Amino acid sequence: MLTGSQRNARLYHRRLDAGLCPRCGGEPEDWRRTCAKCLAYQAANRGPRNVDPAVQRSYMAELRRKRLAAGLCARCNRPAIDGLTTCQEHREAQGRHSREYKERRGVLRLVSSGITG
Ligand SMILES: [Zn+2]
Ligand SMILES: [Zn+2]
Repeated sequence: MLTGSQRNARLYHRRLDAGLCPRCGGEPEDWRRTCAKCLAYQAANRGPRNVDPAVQRSYMAELRRKRLAAGLCARCNRPAIDGLTTCQEHREAQGRHSREYKERRGVLRLVSSGITG
């Protein structure tokens, strides 16, 4: 007895093998494996979280570039401090992170050389 998803997976691959749209069995678009109708459906249902990571990265890079050009913090929309790429809050957050990181590494060194305990 196959579950629904197993049956769907079989159907999906059978359609792919036959050169058809795996979703509906229709004619696929040129080089794509999915037909125009299903492509449109997928695009309409794709939330921002499902965006291709490469696309997301370039989008973020572009957003950052625009913010910097406008004199805003690279991480939020607040005005950046003069001569810096972040606002006051993010500057402090960054400093805190790097300090914590260094402290952690310092502790690790102590532990590994047997100074503590
Ligand atoms: Zn289709
Ligand atoms: Zn900020």
